[in-house]
Amino acid sequence: MAAIAVDRERSAALIGRDIEHLSGAAYTRSTEAIRRYAYTPEYRNTLDWFAHELESIGFTVTEDAVGTMVARNRPPGEPSFGVGSHCDSNRNGGKYDGTMGVVTALEVCRLNVEHDLGLPLQLISFLEEEGSGFGQMLLGSRIIAQRVGEDDLRDRFRAVDDGRSFWEHAEAAGYEPARWRECAAVLDGLTGWIEMHIEQARVLQDTENRIGLVDAIAGYVHADVVVYGRGDHAGATPMDLRLDPTLVLAETAIELERLARAAGRGTVGTIGEVEVDPGLINAIASSVRFSLDIRGPLDEVYRGVAAEIAAFAQRAAEERGMRADYAERQALPATPMDDRIVGALEAAAATTGEPYRRMHSGAAHDTMCVADRVPTAMVFVPCVDGISHHPAEDADPADAALAAEIILLAIASLQ
Ligand SMILES: [Zn+2]
Repeated sequence: MAAIAVDRERSAALIGRDIEHLSGAAYTRSTEAIRRYAYTPEYRNTLDWFAHELESIGFTVTEDAVGTMVARNRPPGEPSFGVGSHCDSNRNGGKYDGTMGVVTALEVCRLNVEHDLGLPLQLISFLEEEGSGFGQMLLGSRIIAQRVGEDDLRDRFRAVDDGRSFWEHAEAAGYEPARWRECAAVLDGLTGWIEMHIEQARVLQDTENRIGLVDAIAGYVHADVVVYGRGDHAGATPMDLRLDPTLVLAETAIELERLARAAGRGTVGTIGEVEVDPGLINAIASSVRFSLDIRGPLDEVYRGVAAEIAAFAQRAAEERGMRADYAERQALPATPMDDRIVGALEAAAATTGEPYRRMHSGAAHDTMCVADRVPTAMVFVPCVDGISHHPAEDADPADAALAAEIILLAIASLQ
């Protein structure tokens, strides 16, 4: 791997400066948190700031038909390597989720110019990753991947703030949602893609690594279980005459932990919603509904856990003389990253002498949609105590600078 003498301290200072700047009043709708999303003045200001920075180093900046920002140092369609993330936030966000990835991608572009490397680069900042505007996660990248339908955009996806459709809002902001199918062209000519993001968990911090090289993004199953018991008086009904569905919930929660631990390999299972009917202190529940969120980087493994826990809940209900129904809400397969790009990142990380590890991402990212058509990988940096989607979110620009250097070296080695 060719040596490029990157001044990491200088990169860290620039990344830190940019993130602080983008946390200013012009870039957030809240004084307590970072809050910016599509088609608001604060989001517009953020894109304009990036566009200005990128134009100043010779990039041509455009937006697709709904507002994903694309900056190139080569004509459209010519082969180039993609870097970027998203710069919208969740409604109660911190400074780093998404934005640090775009700022780091910008630093990769700056280093490319400073070191006169001549790498063909394309920076992308995806629209509405967090779903703060319309309640739809990964919206810009899903439009690019054509994972939505026209009906969704015209009618189904509605603004959290005022209930008007995505379509209306996009048009009011000066975009042409009728041309949404052309957004697919954003990925034309990309020979690869690397997204940097804060980890949003504590693995890197706890293992004292500065860099995570993501080799897969977890898939998931979202499902509901409803257990039907018999509503009775909590005082008058003896223990042996009850059909109490909360006991099936309790047994299922313990079994889910056991199954996910036994499956290992990154499998996680969570009961996040519990709805007890009627939910009164002096009444045995007539029914209970609970959600299942089961994820992992290996489809057959976490899907196996989902199938086993569904069967377990039904059996546990039957053994107590009750009935349980299982219904899948949504499922998304895992996204393996590209071996060649992960390998190039690993070789680059090794040359820096800094601690890194391979890992998978438990959270969803725009890269999942890019991976449909382009070889991809992701780089994680630690965030303090794993806190994310919160104003207390914190990450070190020095780690982002290290990530920028590793990404630059990897892209150079892949040319
Ligand atoms: Zn994010």
